[in-house]
Amino acid sequence: MRFPAEPFRIKVVEPIKNTTQEERERLIREAGYNIFSIPAETIYIDLLTDSGTSAMSDNQWAGLMLGDESYAGSRNYYHFEQTVREIFGFKNIIPTHQGRVAENLLFSNILKEGDVVPNNIHFDTTRANVEYHKAQAVDCVIDEGLDPENPHLFKGNMDLNKLEAVIKKYGADRIPIIMLTITNNSGGGQPVSMENIRQVSELAHRYGIRFFFDACRFAENCYFIKEREEGYADKSILEIAKEMFGYADGCTMSAKKDGLVNIGGFVAVNDDEWAQRITNMLILIEGFKTYGGLAGRDLEAIARGLKEVLDENYLRFRINQTRYLGEMLADQGIPIVKPIGGHAVYLDARRFLPHIPPEQFPGQAIVVELYKRAGIRAVEIGSLMMAKKDPETGKMIPPSLELVRLAIPRRVYTNMHMQYVAEAITEIYHEREKLKGFEIEYEAEFLRHFTAKLKPVD
Ligand SMILES: *Cc1c(COP(=O)(O)O)cnc(C)c1O
Repeated sequence: MRFPAEPFRIKVVEPIKNTTQEERERLIREAGYNIFSIPAETIYIDLLTDSGTSAMSDNQWAGLMLGDESYAGSRNYYHFEQTVREIFGFKNIIPTHQGRVAENLLFSNILKEGDVVPNNIHFDTTRANVEYHKAQAVDCVIDEGLDPENPHLFKGNMDLNKLEAVIKKYGADRIPIIMLTITNNSGGGQPVSMENIRQVSELAHRYGIRFFFDACRFAENCYFIKEREEGYADKSILEIAKEMFGYADGCTMSAKKDGLVNIGGFVAVNDDEWAQRITNMLILIEGFKTYGGLAGRDLEAIARGLKEVLDENYLRFRINQTRYLGEMLADQGIPIVKPIGGHAVYLDARRFLPHIPPEQFPGQAIVVELYKRAGIRAVEIGSLMMAKKDPETGKMIPPSLELVRLAIPRRVYTNMHMQYVAEAITEIYHEREKLKGFEIEYEAEFLRHFTAKLKPVD
């Protein structure tokens, strides 16, 4: 079967409320046409993010009851540590309550002012944590990774020439680590090939620089390697993960993605001295080294989730559910980013609504219409979220892409829900000429998309 059915059956259900279009029109108007200000209970299908929104298994829920809430030395910590070591292989494993704390702990201990961190594309919290330490976050993804229509199979790959040029420009002593984000979230959930991982590792180590993964979606990346890269078809996901992490010196991880849990993360490093410094700071800001801001039961859920995420039946469904939604849209001629990534489908709002200029937020027009018509929540990743301002004229400089992201929570929605989403978007696409843009009534100085108030353009 091309699109496998759900590899699970449903034991507990969470009812979702149905609102009327009238109610939703009122709610979105009162929210200043900002989807972040909408009560989640009035949403039928929530595709805002895949982070922390996973459904846990019966096995994970059972594990919660075995939580050992001892302050030090909880048995769940040992289970967590053993599981992470088995998959990731790193020597020191330090739990945190989410990914950005792992980043903060790592960077606080290794970065100094003027340092540089190359990555394929930094995720926003990673970039912000680098810049907070007055260091520079440099993106070195291959050019194909920036082109929404390029069919390259590993669009998350690092451009080795760009990377080496950065090393030569700043000098290896100003680059404490080189990172690779797998899959590349900000580039559309695109994978990095094993070949590229090996080459980045070699290049880093040749210059005496350590190599780290931002590993949030490591299992999805492994699945793409198995599916697309020569020599991996017969390897298990665990074997692929072990080889991959074997090239690196450590990683940061948000378990809210491929940990299949609602909260949690960790930082892992081989270097004992780095681990010591990070642990000392962990104790200062997060908690003792055997719980790191989490309850014992959370650590148990992560340990179990990390094993479940390696299941090939799960991953086959996961990747193909995303692909299923993407292909239903592409079959209708709806412009999306290709190839379809691991955790989300991205609509290309510029091509969807060519009559609405970036200054009037075409992506937001789609987001608002999707909520009004169908109770679906998506998120704009375009001018509203990412535009810069010309310091002299004050005019908006739009980003290169106007996208709408449909992120798919893990194990939460069925393929019939995906059909519903595809039908709603198709309906909107057929009436796209009627959609109008928006203008801003209120905006904050930073991260305006979270709190902006908008109104429709006449
Ligand atoms: C989500 C995410 C993070 C940050 O993790 P949080 O758990 O949200 O703090 C870092 N990097 C990538 C690639 C992510 O997707």
